Amino acid sequence: MYNKLSKNATEFISHEEIISTIETAELSALDTDYLGGLIKRAEDMKGLDHKEALALLESNDDDINERIFALAKRIKSEKYGNRVVMFAPLYLSNHCINGCVYCPYHVKNKDIARKKLVGADLEREVIALQDMGHKRLAIESGEHPTESPIEYILDCIKTIYNIKHKNGAIRRANINIAATTVENYRKLHDAGIGTYILFQETYNKKNYMLLHPTGPKSNYDYHTEAMDRAVEGGIDDVGIGVLYGLEHYKYDFVGLLMHAEHLEATYGVGPHTMSVPRIRPASDIEITDFDNGISDDLLVKIVAVLRIAVPYTGLIISTREEASVRERLLQVGVTQISGGSRTSVGGYADGGEDEDTKQFEVADNRTLDEVVAWLIEIGHLPSFCTACYREGRTGNLFMDIVKKGGIASTCEINALITLSEYLDDYASENTRKDGFKMLNNYVSAMSEGKIKQIIEGKLARITKGERDIRV
Ligand code: SF4
Repeated sequence: MYNKLSKNATEFISHEEIISTIETAELSALDTDYLGGLIKRAEDMKGLDHKEALALLESNDDDINERIFALAKRIKSEKYGNRVVMFAPLYLSNHCINGCVYCPYHVKNKDIARKKLVGADLEREVIALQDMGHKRLAIESGEHPTESPIEYILDCIKTIYNIKHKNGAIRRANINIAATTVENYRKLHDAGIGTYILFQETYNKKNYMLLHPTGPKSNYDYHTEAMDRAVEGGIDDVGIGVLYGLEHYKYDFVGLLMHAEHLEATYGVGPHTMSVPRIRPASDIEITDFDNGISDDLLVKIVAVLRIAVPYTGLIISTREEASVRERLLQVGVTQISGGSRTSVGGYADGGEDEDTKQFEVADNRTLDEVVAWLIEIGHLPSFCTACYREGRTGNLFMDIVKKGGIASTCEINALITLSEYLDDYASENTRKDGFKMLNNYVSAMSEGKIKQIIEGKLARITKGERDIRV
């Protein structure tokens, strides 16, 4: 039975509803009048439901597809401006007791070294990230009751926030750890985390059970209901995602949107972010074993339709994708990207990826400076801002700002200020030169009144000493 208000995973992610949506879309995707009507309605930027979104995704009509991409670009531009939020993953531990067949950290893999960061090793890693210029991290850890219990994660968060090296500071730590209890989510909330991120991997319960044969993660319901417990534990911003390649894309595209609809209907606020990674080569993982891979073109269309369906949810793409694909995705809807990423435990401080502890091969190997320079060159505005969550603008409050167009205006100023901070402190000479040229162009285009407001601190405020930027 489908019930998006239910807190039971198999009711808000109803298998029957997904199958019926896929069957209906096969016919509705042929009806160009219907699809044209959907696009027209979506122009008001109030989103579309999972049935409508899949119909658009399945369309093979050139004119409809052109209109989909044009609308996605318009929504991206009007709601988010050119701003792109920068982050990096930080792998704390690769000890894991789960049996996920697509992940090299699975318990049976004896070909990788097991490692976790503590004490001076963690501090060196955080300093290395600060020295690159990062302010926002996605903290990653495998699931292990003794190697990485919640107390270990909480200690790491405290250490990460406390380290201030030169002008560096990690101002927002988003956390991607295994599904846990309401009590533990409350502890994470109290520790000041940003977004709690947990990928569903696949919403198809039958396939999920095959892909997760052992360990606590094999409990589909517990995993799928994690965001409900996170919200109950006080976490306002949650990030959801699927791993494309594990299941047929249509199933997980619909499941992802149904999950968002469940959160919105139940708590009045949808997911803060969505991620759409594709499976990558890794130790003990043969991607040819997974026959649901999707093409670059399909990934771009998925992102474009998501941009239309959930206009107020940030869309994230990592260094799993190469630069050319990232550029296409940025144009049609992606709002956050990682840069200079290492996917191993200790990979930043060691000056290079630790092959023995790596989770997957990245496809974009550029440094953060190179990624920033590239974004500037292709007309995007890299942002290192983390003000919202520290100012309490989370959950519903944040969504209200996005809905009123505040991201493109207010956040743009914070993006300019934090980019200028990055350019001063960390950029190479060429990046600094091009970056300040871009900043000058933005400022030249501003009205005198707006510049005055900025200077007077009415739009943006830089706290002296802390070099801390807020609005
Ligand atoms: S996906 Fe996560 S839970 Fe599964 S083996 Fe990898 S680290 Fe462990």
